[in-house]
Amino acid sequence: MPDFQAILETIYQDALKAHDKGVVASYIPELAKIDKSNFGICLITSEGKEYGIGDYKKPFSIQSISKVLALSKAMSLIGEAIWERIDVEPSGNPFNFLSLLEIENGIPRNPLINSGAIVIADILVSNLNNPKADFLKYVRDLTGDDTINYNKEVAKSEKNTGFKNYASANLLKSFKNLNNSIDDVLDFYFHQCSLEMNCNQLSKAFYLFANNGKCLQNKLHITDRQVKRINALMLTCGFYDEAGEFAFEVGLPGKSGVGGGIVALLPDEFVISTWSPGLNKKGNSKLGMLALAEFTTMTKQSIF
Ligand code: GLN
Repeated sequence: MPDFQAILETIYQDALKAHDKGVVASYIPELAKIDKSNFGICLITSEGKEYGIGDYKKPFSIQSISKVLALSKAMSLIGEAIWERIDVEPSGNPFNFLSLLEIENGIPRNPLINSGAIVIADILVSNLNNPKADFLKYVRDLTGDDTINYNKEVAKSEKNTGFKNYASANLLKSFKNLNNSIDDVLDFYFHQCSLEMNCNQLSKAFYLFANNGKCLQNKLHITDRQVKRINALMLTCGFYDEAGEFAFEVGLPGKSGVGGGIVALLPDEFVISTWSPGLNKKGNSKLGMLALAEFTTMTKQSIF
């Protein structure tokens, strides 16, 4: 077994030395306030052993990483019916790209771009009794941590400036691919994206995707077939128009968010989360991607 703590230490020291730490997202004004010198990593192995370094216990806005958790909840509620409303192909475009949605008659390319995640939000609003409270409870149950919460300021900030998400929801509605009101669906979506978690909590929350659908508390949430599908979607669509680059450099299924977080995993082996708020041009954490590439190179552990 590799010396994980020593490997994380090396990666951390390399990250501290990096000159170009990327650019913090500013289109959601609340996110622009975050200091880009933050850097943390947390690894949890399939046996539940934890390794962490840097700011791995400091909470941040998980943003699009939440799309995987929302998808897993929707799959557990309505199963295969999801795929009548959303496709499973990589988009090769930015997360908020709108044109494909119109050309493809309101069927989003996949559930991990914004339009697809908005349809998933619609499914959760339809199928949960108290959507925001029930989804929060799901994330807390997965993690075994009741301190996790939405950041209302971040949700409000995005509500005020999320013009492209409103455009996307309107297009979806015009194609009859939203059943609830645009305001209700986006209110849920903005809250879901505003969840604040640290790298340690993220690795715990994603443990079920490396453990055949069973969370760290040993409760079965989704079937192993559903896990296989979610991991396939993370590998092919988790990094928008940089999914190929992530598979090429890192070689793990994973998901990024514009808050600078990334979670990646090797089924039956480990979950690893990184946080570095500066993004590259494609909207993925610059140092997070480099750190994960270094991790799979040093440990020789990837799916390929
Ligand atoms: N809430 C953000 C948005 O909808 C999430 C984007 C992301 O993290 N890539 O734009």
